[in-house]
Amino acid sequence: MQLEIRNLSKTYSNGVHALKSVSLTIPQGMFGLLGPNGAGKSSLMRTIATLQEADSGSIQLTGLPEGDIDVLRQKDAVRRVLGYLPQEFGVYPRVTAETMLDHIATLKGLANARERKEIVSGLLQKVNLHQVRNKNLGTFSGGMKQRFGIAQALIGNPRLIIVDEPTAGLDPAERNRFHNLLAEIGENTIVILSTHIVEDVTNLCSDMAIICLGEVVATGNPNDLVEDV
Ligand code: ADP
Ligand code: ADP
Repeated sequence: MQLEIRNLSKTYSNGVHALKSVSLTIPQGMFGLLGPNGAGKSSLMRTIATLQEADSGSIQLTGLPEGDIDVLRQKDAVRRVLGYLPQEFGVYPRVTAETMLDHIATLKGLANARERKEIVSGLLQKVNLHQVRNKNLGTFSGGMKQRFGIAQALIGNPRLIIVDEPTAGLDPAERNRFHNLLAEIGENTIVILSTHIVEDVTNLCSDMAIICLGEVVATGNPNDLVEDV
């Protein structure tokens, strides 16, 4: 399975060229997309997540058992295999973690209540929020919210997971906890980690790209691309 991005371009109506013919091949495992603020990371992530249109180019998700997906055209198919943690992940403050996950699982088509309960319980344990499953999301710290965000992104066993700036605003301990959690996802999944924090990539990713002003300026192994780590 891999994600093949070819000549992807996007210019916003204000004239900003956010993506300039971006081409990237993203393999299974943890892939880091590193770049400063304004580089075009979120534009690329939102396009892959089918939340915004590109002007030109193509994105193919290949090697799935159910067949290849043309990401820009087969949005429903993408959404069935996608887990997405957006950059600004808002939670409903007066809903409990358990209720919210159950609701999202329902939206993702899990019709059987007992099955949902099992899945939700497993995910809450995985992200270490089981103890607070009956607390309102509004009472959660930033790190807890991010871990909740990963739990919601993991519902339905996604093959492609996109996390956009997941550790921005987290303290070092929370960042560590979040790293450990991401590292467990791995293997049969493509995980794209978009970040401006070098350590996120060097600690977690086996492959990476550096994006700057809408252009991919380097791709390869983090150990080769990032110095002094
Ligand atoms: P478009 O240019 O594609 O028509 P809009 O200008 O309508 O998009 O903005 C869509 C969303 O993106 C809005 O939520 C807006 O707040 C946000 N947005 C607008 N300009 C910027 C920007 N320069 N950087 C980041 N987000 C922006
Ligand atoms: P990053 O995620 O790397 O910070 P973005 O993709 O958010 O980069 O932004 C890339 C460029 O596009 C920036 O110059 C940003 O201001 C601009 N931009 C992002 N979203 C919009 C939007 N909806 N409308 C207009 N400009 C945008």
